[in-house]
Amino acid sequence: MDARPRRQRIGTGALMADTLDPADWEAYRKAAHALLDACVDRLATARDHPWQPMPDAVRAGYTLDGVARGEAALARELAEQVLPWGTGNTHPRFWGWVHGTGLASGVMAEMVAATMNANLGGRDHGAVEIERAVIDWTRGVMGFPQGASGVLVTGTSQATVIALAAARQRAQPQVRTRGVSPGLTAYTGAGAHNAARKAMELLGLGHEALRAIPETDRGMDLDALRHAIAQDRAAGLRPFAVIGTAGSVDLGRFDDLNALADLAQDQDLWLHVDGAFGAWTRLADAPWRDLSDGIGRADSLACDFHKWMFVPYDCGLVLIRDETAHRAAFAARPPYLAAQSAGLGGGEPWFCDYGIDLSRGNRALKAWAAIRAHGADGLGAAITRCCVLAARMGQGVTARAPMRLAAPVVSNLCVFTADSRLSPAEQSARNTRVAQALQMSGEAVFSTTSVGGITCLRAAITNHRTTGEDIDAALDAVTNA
Ligand SMILES: *Cc1c(COP(=O)(O)O)cnc(C)c1O
Repeated sequence: MDARPRRQRIGTGALMADTLDPADWEAYRKAAHALLDACVDRLATARDHPWQPMPDAVRAGYTLDGVARGEAALARELAEQVLPWGTGNTHPRFWGWVHGTGLASGVMAEMVAATMNANLGGRDHGAVEIERAVIDWTRGVMGFPQGASGVLVTGTSQATVIALAAARQRAQPQVRTRGVSPGLTAYTGAGAHNAARKAMELLGLGHEALRAIPETDRGMDLDALRHAIAQDRAAGLRPFAVIGTAGSVDLGRFDDLNALADLAQDQDLWLHVDGAFGAWTRLADAPWRDLSDGIGRADSLACDFHKWMFVPYDCGLVLIRDETAHRAAFAARPPYLAAQSAGLGGGEPWFCDYGIDLSRGNRALKAWAAIRAHGADGLGAAITRCCVLAARMGQGVTARAPMRLAAPVVSNLCVFTADSRLSPAEQSARNTRVAQALQMSGEAVFSTTSVGGITCLRAAITNHRTTGEDIDAALDAVTNA
């Protein structure tokens, strides 16, 4: 039975639904249970479902005609036409870009979050307490001090904007009233993620003001960094921030964060760390945990729950050491949002004072659920496993010469070329072709990146479902592609 809204005549004679709720809750319950079964089946058989290109007929079927079909028909369509056509990052051999795998606990959390439909912009209710608990726990994991503030955001891209806005605010206290004054410069490694450039652009500083510092195996070359800062100061510019990387997107490299913290202190610069995935090596075993030593000394940190903490999209976090600087950049409470001493309008501080959004979804619950379900130990063990598997892939590449590593495996990234005997141009073409072929066949998902002018195959292992056999089979597939 389709659950269509009941209709009734109101005074004007116009036809109006009296509510958008299902007309028959029992029919809804049955349809929703069947859909939940389809979701659980899908996760339980994730290994059977790699990414596959979407048929045109399915794509065309998504077109909206504005006609009401009711929840029961919707449930069937969700299970049959929507559920199968995701990114495929739930599959154990998905290592493209940096994609989290998702968690069964996330399905439970998202169901409850949608039911509560809480707005986490502020006010006095349980959902904001869940977000506080997530931030508090992460603050401890990262070694940030008690007074540090934070807010959950879409991801590291938005977290970077918020962090650099706080840094800009410290450098230019009048920025909110008068706008940006020219001359601010920032510094980051040449291998830093584009999110930092984008943040500089959005903050009105321009990405030319973000200096790309050459890197060694141990991240940014500190002599080159000091030199660039001195040069800018001599030119009358105003260095304000240095952006370290914990886990670079291409090669999984880590800056020496203690050295950067010392330098930032000496130079009176704001130290921001992009720890999108790599920050979570804090939960891993040695030697990988050591890579992020010093991360707790940063002025701000951006990291994602949706990558290496496996939480369903989207969920990132910014932590800021100096809560005053954080609030100075964002807090604003017009009369219609005035703080109240009691009632639903209480519950200070409100998260809307710590970021861009006023209305905010419940990203917190799925992160909280992951930590409750698996604990620091369970998540840490999965993170360690990813590093062990990346090392295995590295060894597998070396053992399959002329396959060759493009760079040493540091953490959870393995970047390599399928045939090092070919010319650079031929290697690029071959690696691109291999990545596409394996994606299309469903054998494995590698992405590509350029190292030393050669387009290489790249695996970022943030996948708790990957096994050692998956690694070996995927390398065999590269050989045979
Ligand atoms: C993914 C990533 C980003 C961007 O984060 P989003 O969550 O995708 O916005 C920034 N830096 C690094 C190192 C990343 O891997």
